[in-house]
Amino acid sequence: MTGLDLPFPFYAVTAFIFGLIIGSFLNVVIHRVPRGMSVVFPRSHCASCAAPVAAFDNIPLVSFALLGGRCRSCRARISAAYPTVELGAGLMFTALMLKTGPSWELLLEFAFASVIIALVFIDARHHLLPNVITYPAFIFALASAAAQAGWSDKTLLTFDISLVIPGLHSAFIPWRAALFGALLFALAAPGFWLLDRLDALLFSRYFDWAENDEEIDEKEIEKEMEIERRHNRAIRATMIFGVVVAVAWAALVVLFSAKHQQAFEAAYNGLTRASFGALIIGGLIWLIRAAYFLLRRIEGMGLGDVKMMAVVAAFLSWHVALGVLLLGSIIGSVIGVIFFFRSKQGFKAPLPFGACLGIAALIVMLTATPFSVWHINQ
Ligand SMILES: [Zn+2]
Repeated sequence: MTGLDLPFPFYAVTAFIFGLIIGSFLNVVIHRVPRGMSVVFPRSHCASCAAPVAAFDNIPLVSFALLGGRCRSCRARISAAYPTVELGAGLMFTALMLKTGPSWELLLEFAFASVIIALVFIDARHHLLPNVITYPAFIFALASAAAQAGWSDKTLLTFDISLVIPGLHSAFIPWRAALFGALLFALAAPGFWLLDRLDALLFSRYFDWAENDEEIDEKEIEKEMEIERRHNRAIRATMIFGVVVAVAWAALVVLFSAKHQQAFEAAYNGLTRASFGALIIGGLIWLIRAAYFLLRRIEGMGLGDVKMMAVVAAFLSWHVALGVLLLGSIIGSVIGVIFFFRSKQGFKAPLPFGACLGIAALIVMLTATPFSVWHINQ
């Protein structure tokens, strides 16, 4: 598959173990990010008795099995979600290794899959796709699209969206690629922010706050506001990160595009393709959301879904994202029917649609990721 000559099972097992370790970290992200806690401090501790988890009790899958799914100090049950996330990440990483082969592109796919796995589990539990994750993931997806296109130096045999936008597909001019590419990176996070503000301006009056009116707890509000402040700080940091990536992009183009013009042209095309793909898919889902509000006065599609699908479109390309939307809707319908028969709330039971879209993205990713080494080497 590549130039490395180690037996293939070695790679598969390595990917699985790496997936378990990343899955263990994702558990921390899934547990703490919605609560506005740091993912670094404090160290892992039991959710019931707060006893710190020793390193030898923190081995993915193994510790859960040895402890019988219970805390060592207080014997409280540990949620089965923890080993599920670890096993899920392990299997996903192994499958990606089988598809893409050992390469640096695989690392980008690992990172993307990790983001989606975290979003799936957070949405399933909290009905929430946190901005703290979707904002930086968008910049990462754009940079990945540019890097993959530039590095592989191959033109995708698919419809290229930049062909229909006048002026985008003309001859490669370094200063223009440096400037326009930098703008795309720098404006990615502010673009999401603008979407959030605009959406709140248009639709916040449709949200139903009435059910919360009875039990307004001062402490609860203070806690919510603290989480909000932390998340806003993270979003500002993401905007600065976007500017840093923009400057890095411009510097790379100015310094190296004369020597590697073909690669930079491909990278620039990859970046514009990813940006416009995100705009089209995000816009499409936002229109569906708007239609729900205007016609039925309900939130059929969350704003988090819009941003997650923009990330998916940037990383996997817009036409693959359409497939994700289709498959996600099918998965959502199946889960909706199960909810209908198992829940007393019937069709009013909230459906974590973002989680369905995320699962669809992982499935589609295994079958349709462009640029993979596997395809290129053939
Ligand atoms: Zn405990």
